[in-house]
Amino acid sequence: MEEQSKLIRTQAERSKNREHSVPLYLTSSFIFDDSEQSRATFAGEMEANIYSRYSNPNTSEFIAKVCQMEGAEDGLAFSSGMAAVFASLAGFLKSGDHVIACRSIFGSTIQLLDQLLPRWGISRTYVTALNLEEWEAAIKPETKMIFLETPSNPGLDLIDLEWLGGLKKKYPHIIFNIDNCFATPYLQKPLSYGFDLVCHSATKYMDGQGRVLGGVVVGRKDLINELMFFIRHTGPAMSPFTAWLLSKSLETLTLRMDRHCENALAVAKQLEIHKSVKSVKYPFLRSHPQYLLAKKQMKAGGAIITFEVIGGFDAAKIFLDGLKMILITSNLGDSRTIVTHPASTTHSKLSEDERREVGIFPGTIRFSVGLEDIIDILADVNQALDRI
Ligand SMILES: *Cc1c(COP(=O)(O)O)cnc(C)c1O
Repeated sequence: MEEQSKLIRTQAERSKNREHSVPLYLTSSFIFDDSEQSRATFAGEMEANIYSRYSNPNTSEFIAKVCQMEGAEDGLAFSSGMAAVFASLAGFLKSGDHVIACRSIFGSTIQLLDQLLPRWGISRTYVTALNLEEWEAAIKPETKMIFLETPSNPGLDLIDLEWLGGLKKKYPHIIFNIDNCFATPYLQKPLSYGFDLVCHSATKYMDGQGRVLGGVVVGRKDLINELMFFIRHTGPAMSPFTAWLLSKSLETLTLRMDRHCENALAVAKQLEIHKSVKSVKYPFLRSHPQYLLAKKQMKAGGAIITFEVIGGFDAAKIFLDGLKMILITSNLGDSRTIVTHPASTTHSKLSEDERREVGIFPGTIRFSVGLEDIIDILADVNQALDRI
């Protein structure tokens, strides 16, 4: 079956009620036919649901769909994207271990690496997305993991996955872990380059409608088994309701992403020719310095555009306050178009120099293009830009 059909046809086993759409399994535990079955299940001799902190039919269905898309052997679902990211680090690292991470990763992931993991003696080195030599030079004997995001947020720099796959071959003992949230498994499949783990905030495009928080980690079976121990005993499980909802959302992921990307490319092209716009970054614009790499490793450019208005923060304010349909909120990956001003919000804790390093200037706007009619998105953007 093709990817899109599998996303629709993968379903938890039908019950004797012969339901068409999958039911919601709101149960904390599961019963056993007899004492022998309960013994064998606990002993790991039999695979069955025991308790929803471990597994649940709704979360299993959601995980199966993500595994199919990513080409993964197995996976685990989490209560939020950050729970997934944290588990994908803490589940494998111990005191004395070292992590190499790309500098332009999600803000809370930076806080994990800077503030929390050092409490347990885990150190990190940051490298720049574009300078590939830095990555290999940062490897130490105690390096246990390489963690990255591509495209980066909000700079939209890309990291060459094929090149990193080559590095993985050279250092097979290092776990290569990627947060694939921005691209989604529809646009980009890191495991196909030899990566070990992929984590996601399902809160973004997987839900795609800004309703629930969720996360997922998929990848090599032996690593997922190891991680299973960590989550059984730390408890960041996804709720069955969230899994039920996300599994339904995945049925339309490819359709939504096609439209998101089509709208985003149209907005990016229009921004490029507006007189109040200094620069536009979007992976599938020919002007993007890594356009060819984007074409090689992504199916489409995604739905995030980063652009800079002429006139710095004052001009950015006029634009943001001038938008009529599009609202300011710090989420992304919603059916509604969303606008954010990184320098004064998500990245306000960084110094101006640190911001510049990840491509954020006072006039930088991050735009998450939604699914509205492109005519309305373009009209709102134009009228707000014309006020500058
Ligand atoms: C939002 C996001 C996260 C965190 O996910 P939550 O579901 O909000 O916890 C992690 N990584 C990336 C790239 C994100 O965009």
